[in-house]
Amino acid sequence: MAGIHIHTQDVNDEGVEAIASRIARMDDVEYVFAQVNTIFERNPSPTGTLEHNSVHDVVIGEGLLYTGFDPQEVYPGLYQKVEPDPDRRDILGTLQRSTLNESYTIVPWINVLNGDFLGDLDASCVVDVEGERVGHWLCPNGPHVVEMWARVIAALVERYGWRTIMIDRIRYPDWSGRELEPRSILSCFCDSCLRGFPEAGIDVDDLRRAMREVAGLLVEGRFAEAVTSFRGSPVLASWVEFRQRSVTRMVERLVARTRELSAEVELWLDVWPPCYGWLLGQDLTELTKHGTRLKHFPYHRLGGGADVQGFIDYFAADDEGREEAFRAFLDFFGLPYDLSYRRFKEDGFPLRFVRDENDRVRSLAQEGTRVYSGVQMWNLSPAELVEATREAYGSQADDVIYYCYGWASDDLFGAANGLRPEGNLRPVQGHRPVQGLRSAKGLRSAGGSG
Ligand SMILES: [Zn+2]
Repeated sequence: MAGIHIHTQDVNDEGVEAIASRIARMDDVEYVFAQVNTIFERNPSPTGTLEHNSVHDVVIGEGLLYTGFDPQEVYPGLYQKVEPDPDRRDILGTLQRSTLNESYTIVPWINVLNGDFLGDLDASCVVDVEGERVGHWLCPNGPHVVEMWARVIAALVERYGWRTIMIDRIRYPDWSGRELEPRSILSCFCDSCLRGFPEAGIDVDDLRRAMREVAGLLVEGRFAEAVTSFRGSPVLASWVEFRQRSVTRMVERLVARTRELSAEVELWLDVWPPCYGWLLGQDLTELTKHGTRLKHFPYHRLGGGADVQGFIDYFAADDEGREEAFRAFLDFFGLPYDLSYRRFKEDGFPLRFVRDENDRVRSLAQEGTRVYSGVQMWNLSPAELVEATREAYGSQADDVIYYCYGWASDDLFGAANGLRPEGNLRPVQGHRPVQGLRSAKGLRSAGGSG
């Protein structure tokens, strides 16, 4: 069944009863994905206001953790800053005691590598090609990240009982964030990565040289040449593989360590659409060996979640340059659309992007992987929501995850009712339901259904 994503401010500002009454109008939602830690994101993004939030018009995420326990006690080596107001901190406790928990399966949603962390940051943070620390990003190869999250997840399971967790931001930084910083992509050069390069056949000086060449071409506005330079570079190919292996290994270790600490925990994967994800360290074929369900966001209007406009406008100075940069962008990411930048800014990618990316996920993922297609519920009319949802349900995806609750205007709840085809359910192979837990309140796992 489908799901919907809720943010911390939805619970704190609107309250669970208001959330429950809106979600109840949707006929396909069974899972409520509850944000456990925030990212540095404007809510809603990039413009607009939170229509049904009576406390805040806009909320800027600060990369904080919202739990009823102290993460520093759980793992002192590396820990996330917590929401300072104790009355707003224990989101999951509030949800656990709510009617929402009786009607829906709650899945805590964790941003793994992006947030405001404290502790051994020198060893933990992503470092870019020029040796600068990339703000608020952890490297998947860092010495603490797996142990920290395994212990936090074990603490969550022990305290709240839910045994299915969505893990998001399992990747290297993209170019967006608080400020646009394309150089963040040219990473990571932390001590752990530097130690791993020789075994991967990567000469670090070669790598820096190749990255600076591509970056230099982009800065000079020679976009097509930048794509050619990237594709012709063996060391950049090795670097892409290194990043993918690093993320896969982190997920593999996190799954294993979490299960050591807390039996029968299942981690679901939140990834980028495959057109972009490969560059950020996501190899869906390998990742889906370690997670049986994944969600990605092939929403055409927003360019699949990437800040395409920010990237183009950063490098190109005039309209002609922007069109050329956009053509190179489409080419580089394998997006076969005959589309001008001017049109893209008005309408986004064509609707078939939803289907194309879901087809790609299906062909890359392990057989039996359950695929959720993210559907945006913001800045669109009910008719447009119907169109996007129909496309997602008609694609190779099994189901949809709507997001997000707090950003959506009131007329969108229930607008897509009746679109979910009953025959869309695929048997989930290699998936072990958690026995005996679903009937106990507060101990329900998402594992056994859907
Ligand atoms: Zn690193």
